Amino acid sequence: MKVCKFGGTSVATAQQIKKVANIIHSDSSRKIIVVSAPGKRYSEDTKVTDLLILLAEKALIGQDTESELQQVLTRYHEISEGLGLNDSINKVIEKDLRQRLALDKQDPILFMDILKASGEDNNAKLIAAYLQSVGMEAAYVCPRDGGLLVNERPQRVQALPEGETLLADLRNRNGIVVFPGFFGYTKDGTLRTFNRGGSDITGSLLAAATRAELYENFTDVDSVFSANPTVVDQPCAIHTMTYREMRELSYAGFTVFHDEALRPAFLHSIPVCIKNTNNPSARGTMIVKERECGTRPVVGIAADNGFSTLFVDKYLMNVEIGFGRRLLEILEDEEIPFEHTPSGIDNMSVIIRDTFLTEEKEARIVRRVKEELDADDAYFRQDYSMVVLVGERMRDTTGLTARAASAIAKTGASIQMINQGSTEVSLVFGIHRKDETPVLRALYEEFFQTAVAHV
Ligand code: ASP
Repeated sequence: MKVCKFGGTSVATAQQIKKVANIIHSDSSRKIIVVSAPGKRYSEDTKVTDLLILLAEKALIGQDTESELQQVLTRYHEISEGLGLNDSINKVIEKDLRQRLALDKQDPILFMDILKASGEDNNAKLIAAYLQSVGMEAAYVCPRDGGLLVNERPQRVQALPEGETLLADLRNRNGIVVFPGFFGYTKDGTLRTFNRGGSDITGSLLAAATRAELYENFTDVDSVFSANPTVVDQPCAIHTMTYREMRELSYAGFTVFHDEALRPAFLHSIPVCIKNTNNPSARGTMIVKERECGTRPVVGIAADNGFSTLFVDKYLMNVEIGFGRRLLEILEDEEIPFEHTPSGIDNMSVIIRDTFLTEEKEARIVRRVKEELDADDAYFRQDYSMVVLVGERMRDTTGLTARAASAIAKTGASIQMINQGSTEVSLVFGIHRKDETPVLRALYEEFFQTAVAHV
């Protein structure tokens, strides 16, 4: 039995949904189908989820929402018409959205979540109706009835293991289960969404709970590429990679698969296959526990920007017990997670994603570090990029850091930070953002295009 997740572009139009139906029809083991909200039909298009966010924002400030609502309804209307469905599904969707909009707005986060989740919820109902209309035995399953239990606020939304027994039962249902991605319910029945792109997480949770033989994640590319194809010309395809390799790459900008989605599949050793809805016969990328590593040490190179660094200096920092803990506690008080903490004997830097920072938070942190930790200096610097080399074989390869550093040096960029995790599956270079593209290209050339890359 396979669990298949279809992403936004795979379910954006009637034509795409027909491809989805053919994919399901062509393999009777594809039993559990997780769907996203309709995504972009062309590159400048707006995803339904983004339309829903605008709709919720307007409703929250008490403005008239009719035109935003109509935009959302038109998307579903066009799809249902193209699929030859009768108007009853449109009525179901309109009634549902109007009911959601009329809900209490005292808790804006909850209201936003309820609106956002309608994107996948209504699309799942529509797709189930279409599959039935073409003669397939299919049924929409609400995550509340299906058992997708999640934790309470304020923590990051994560599935609770208590839901697993009920989720596992999805395997025994007759026909095809159509399950909306992106959200679950707390024990008291409150809806909560995962973070953006979270339908991948739903698919992985269902694959793990039902012990599926495979989790197929259908998107719009033939495979995962070894570098960003918009930066590197025709990067090579990755056919097999490990969970760890994918995790490292998706951490640093490989958006093809949500980084939190790997864990459930990994815990139950469910292989994941990234496939293309527009070209389902392409072999795709398999993500597995272990793989034959071949000769190439690096499987992929990722780059991500939007990082700031907090620099802290204090003479004799190395002998001060608890300094690191107290510094990180200040960040914890501000609810800021950290990415890396490279350090010298009398200094320590903390690399943080900009999304967690504001000017006020930075000023408060700097003041507290100086006052409470008696630091000689503390300041933030912005505009850093992290470039990450990833590969299981890197740990057995000598001279790899030297090769990477000299390739970076040739671009004229200066390395601000180097970090190698203890598993040696990745090597991170912190550089200035302006250097990101030349550095990525230089590293790609060094590890994928020179003769030595293949020995
Ligand atoms: N529709 C949601 C988003 O755009 C979730 C998903 O597609 O996975 O983020």
